[in-house]
Amino acid sequence: MHNKTIKELSALLQSKQVSATELAQHYLDRIAASNLNAFLDVEPELSLAQARAADQRIAQGTAGVLTGVPIAHKDIFVTRGWRSTASSKMLGNYVSPFDATVVEKFNAAGMVTLGKLNCDEFAMGGSNENSAFGAVKNPWDQQAVPGGSSGGSAAAVAARLAPGATGTDTGGSIRQPAAFCGITGIKPTYGRVSRFGMIAFASSLDQGGPMAQTAEDCALLLNEMTGFDERDSTSLTPEQGNVREDFARDLNKPLAGLRIGVPKEYFGEGLAADVEAAVRAALEQFVKLGATLVDISLPRTSLSIPTYYIIAPAEASSNLSRFDGVRYGFRAPEYKDLQDMYKKTRAAGFGPEVQRRIMVGTYVLCHGYYDAYYVQAQKIRRMIADDFQAAFRDQCDVIMGPVAPSVAWDLGAKSNDPVANYLADIFTLSTSLAGLPGMSIPVGFGQGEKNANRPVGLQIIGNYFAEAKLLNIAHQYQQATDWHTRAPEGV
Ligand code: GLN
Repeated sequence: MHNKTIKELSALLQSKQVSATELAQHYLDRIAASNLNAFLDVEPELSLAQARAADQRIAQGTAGVLTGVPIAHKDIFVTRGWRSTASSKMLGNYVSPFDATVVEKFNAAGMVTLGKLNCDEFAMGGSNENSAFGAVKNPWDQQAVPGGSSGGSAAAVAARLAPGATGTDTGGSIRQPAAFCGITGIKPTYGRVSRFGMIAFASSLDQGGPMAQTAEDCALLLNEMTGFDERDSTSLTPEQGNVREDFARDLNKPLAGLRIGVPKEYFGEGLAADVEAAVRAALEQFVKLGATLVDISLPRTSLSIPTYYIIAPAEASSNLSRFDGVRYGFRAPEYKDLQDMYKKTRAAGFGPEVQRRIMVGTYVLCHGYYDAYYVQAQKIRRMIADDFQAAFRDQCDVIMGPVAPSVAWDLGAKSNDPVANYLADIFTLSTSLAGLPGMSIPVGFGQGEKNANRPVGLQIIGNYFAEAKLLNIAHQYQQATDWHTRAPEGV
């Protein structure tokens, strides 16, 4: 049952071969038996109540495709009923009085929430080791990180603890854990999915998206997720192109004539040979499907790291100023006066990586440094976006390359080395800075005794609003290959 896709589960539910209640119970049992630390909060009674309501809708004939299908939410999306912690001690016991727009939409569609998923604290990280509630294990190899920040989401889908999950991506946090756990994930165009109720990290970059076994399932989830939301001031309007569309409409289009840009900067120094081999084999598969490969250049790729690691912390330092122990969340138990309360609360409530980013962000926004760092980074951000536009205008329809320079590394291997973590984001940051949609699909495994069981992801980057095209491309690949059907041993 749990190896079925959302599409297949939907068919079973609609034809009443399985009830939403049975399905929810099946996944809840799997979650209870799992030792991956993927879930931070599970409330079986709430899930089962949603499942019973879904069964009623199915009985009454008022169900939609996703009614009764289970889903789990990254703990960045606030939810009524389940705790919403952002994997931070700061929000350790926080229960939101409202639902994030994305959660509200899935609830309205009749989906059943299985619980809240572990992630890096405030989504800052790429290994899930920055969670205040402990790391998540990669279900393919329990010595390995699941990636991050949506590590719980990726691990849960890979271990079949949920057929789909929400993730958020600021600089790679949907794509990279999807790659490390061998699942499919898409970060939509910035502004397509409402950020309302998504606990903010870097507001000009944050974007929610779906993670599932297949591109087809991601399309079904994305159909419910997108749309203008007046409660998010950066939500794209219908006039700007954010119209409701069926993201599954083009899944079956053949790929003949597709021009795939292959940026040389994504295959240079630092890319592990086993990742390169799997990615190149995937590119060859696309040639078999009728596409042509075009050599392109994205010359500012290496600048994406300093640029992102100025802009994201700057925005984070501002967003996280609200966590001061006054209105909600954690407050230090003992303090002398108000100033002291702020200091002790923030020192004890935030983990080391979050503190580091608040300090960096505050520094680059300081009078005297603002022009040298923040303004400069904004200029380079524009140039990075322009490089993509030049490629899409003159050379290619989509761009492909690796998601990450290596397969998942060992738990602990980089946990005391922030710069090593930042460098591993090299292939995902540019897309985020440009606000473009990007996705990751599984295309094989690493090599050698250590990496043979660690998945490799292919990144597919499109122009603004090209989600349906990306999903089409991914689906065609998945019709021709079976990497997406592989599950870790014992699952
Ligand atoms: N790994 C990147 C970072 O640490 C991206 C995180 C994200 O996309 N939320 O900021």
